[in-house]
Amino acid sequence: MAEPVARFLSRLPERTVRVVRLGLRAIEWAPFPWRFSRLSCDARSAYLARMESSRFFVYRDLLLLAKILCMFGWARDERVRSTVGYEARCGVADGEAPPQPGPLGELRPQGDGEECDVAIVGSGAGGAAAAATLAEAGLDVLVLESGPHFDHRSYPEDPLEAIPVLYRDGGMTVAGGRPAIPVPVGRALGGTTVINSGTCFRAPDEVLAEWQERYGVEWAPELEPTFAAAEHELAVTRLDPERMGRNGQLCMEGAEALGASGGPIARNAGACIQCSSCPVGCRLDAKRAMHVSYLPRAAAAGARIRTGVQALRLLREGERVTGIACRGGLPTTAKEEFSRNGRPVRGRPFEVRARAVLLAAGAFGTPELLLRSGIRHPHLGRHLHVHPAAWIGGRYEQEVRGWEGVMQSYYVDEWQPQRILLEATFTPLSFGAQWLPGAGREHSERIRDYDKLGSIGVHLHDHSSGYVGLHPDGSLRLSYKLRDEEVRLLQFGIARAAEVHFAAGAVEVYPNVGPVPVIKRGSLPEFESMRVRADDLRLEAFHPMSTARMGADPKQSVTAPDGSVHGTDGLYVADASLLPSSVGVNPMMTIIACATQVATQLAQRISARAPAPSPGG
Ligand SMILES: Cc1cc2nc3c(=O)[nH]c(=O)nc-3n(C[C@H](O)[C@H](O)[C@H](O)COP(=O)(O)OP(=O)(O)OC[C@H]3O[C@@H](n4cnc5c(N)ncnc54)[C@H](O)[C@@H]3O)c2cc1C
Ligand code: SF4
Repeated sequence: MAEPVARFLSRLPERTVRVVRLGLRAIEWAPFPWRFSRLSCDARSAYLARMESSRFFVYRDLLLLAKILCMFGWARDERVRSTVGYEARCGVADGEAPPQPGPLGELRPQGDGEECDVAIVGSGAGGAAAAATLAEAGLDVLVLESGPHFDHRSYPEDPLEAIPVLYRDGGMTVAGGRPAIPVPVGRALGGTTVINSGTCFRAPDEVLAEWQERYGVEWAPELEPTFAAAEHELAVTRLDPERMGRNGQLCMEGAEALGASGGPIARNAGACIQCSSCPVGCRLDAKRAMHVSYLPRAAAAGARIRTGVQALRLLREGERVTGIACRGGLPTTAKEEFSRNGRPVRGRPFEVRARAVLLAAGAFGTPELLLRSGIRHPHLGRHLHVHPAAWIGGRYEQEVRGWEGVMQSYYVDEWQPQRILLEATFTPLSFGAQWLPGAGREHSERIRDYDKLGSIGVHLHDHSSGYVGLHPDGSLRLSYKLRDEEVRLLQFGIARAAEVHFAAGAVEVYPNVGPVPVIKRGSLPEFESMRVRADDLRLEAFHPMSTARMGADPKQSVTAPDGSVHGTDGLYVADASLLPSSVGVNPMMTIIACATQVATQLAQRISARAPAPSPGG
């Protein structure tokens, strides 16, 4: 088990490895004057159990790190899988084949001298939608993506192989704070949409109205046709409750028994019925992520797409942005990425010239690039919202076999007025088992019951916020501060998820709250009346946004409602960074809609500026 984990760690960026090593050293020396690795097996188990129930969050965080690493290694072991009965498979209803995507064109960068009307950095939800819109408006578009191109023929089956290549920093992007919150983001052609769960929500009307009233984004309440067009492009379909799998059905039964409103989730992979691989790329490409939807559409309209190109900084002449300084020569395809085997690639510098630059490098990548380019604004990198989320497991007496259903399948919006959204989400073994309580033998016994587990994600529509900045060595620095009143909201949300589990027949619930590893039937009122502290919570988050927020007032927002960066000329943003505030629902569709809006306005502006054709030309 240790060898594949060691190989995994050797593929992570140096800075991430340093942090992991520090954590592992701390565990090794924590039982001082003894050393953890020299204790007997029973003494180690007892020590880990003490770490889990410790009043000090640092011990609990260290234990979680150890559990994450161990589960990556353990869950791939055939003996563990066969004991649990876990099978990693994806399937679509009635064997229906997903549509074949069109070609993407030459992905290899062409070196110095590429010129275009609009250079787009990043090919995720925002970048891909903007590329298709601009190219179809007749503009010459160049998309630069730092990750390589993967698809159903090349996603690695083993999560330990997949995570270092499909995620930024090997999935170890963590917002520091109490508690520290892992916020993974994708790094591949198609961005985070390659590894996301395919859930499609439109932004709630109240949120769009707030963007108009409070931030001056006049077009926000008029996005209905843009959402409809995006849903058409991504073949968004509501799940059939009969086929969503037992995990979703239990959530539905629990919610219905409580009279709580909700419904099957709409997804951009309507026909799928069995899953174990959403977070490491859909093995069937049944999910219409950007590399099989908007990007082939952009290529068909003439856009040039380049992978393995990292944008380093913006080229500027005064306020005017004229292009991008890049590093090329990074792996462009899955094959090249695997043959690099984690070794750093130096690459070669080159420059791209453009009439306009549109940043779509995501809520971390976009402020990072702006800061590295010397752009300063008091709100740049601030207001990071993430939708903090808690994984709430419920153990049932009968089999659930959640992996035989769709990963994210049923939502409960009864408590949206309290800013809480529940989503039945069954995480594959490698990504879910670390959230089970216990350490050592107790933990492995709980894993043995993974086939009887149901899980619900609790998502907070956050007003709390964080910060994206740079360390002195230029690397990314993230932090997030959870407000006290939002700790209460999360506790409320966790209790509601527990209530849904119990109403569906669960015998015990795992709330991921440090001092309360398990909630038994009947003890929910006790859980609700206790005072939970921020660092008692074990959270993760998947929706970073708002780090270059848009608004009409240049003093309060980094970007204008047309996506342009205040105080610059020729520079635009079209990704999650743009969203003026937290959306409250999974944000992919909102990002696509906003990026389409920004790109449409930009196309009009550039076309209007184009020199008139010469007579006879
Ligand atoms: C595990 C997981 C599950 C999720 N599930 C859902 C879901 O079901 N539904 C939903 O709505 N949302 C989901 N999300 C969130 C959603 O996928 C993202 O919010 C969305 O993709 C963000 O779009 P974006 O364009 O801002 O950035 P991204 O999609 O992250 O794309 C940014 C791209 O820019 C590239 N890049 C960054 N820096 C540079 C640089 N310097 N040079 C060149 N390229 C660069 C990156 O490699 C990346 O490909 C999920 C997220 C995760 C992590
Ligand atoms: S649940 Fe996800 S990975 Fe599985 S088949 Fe559907 S889209 Fe693909």
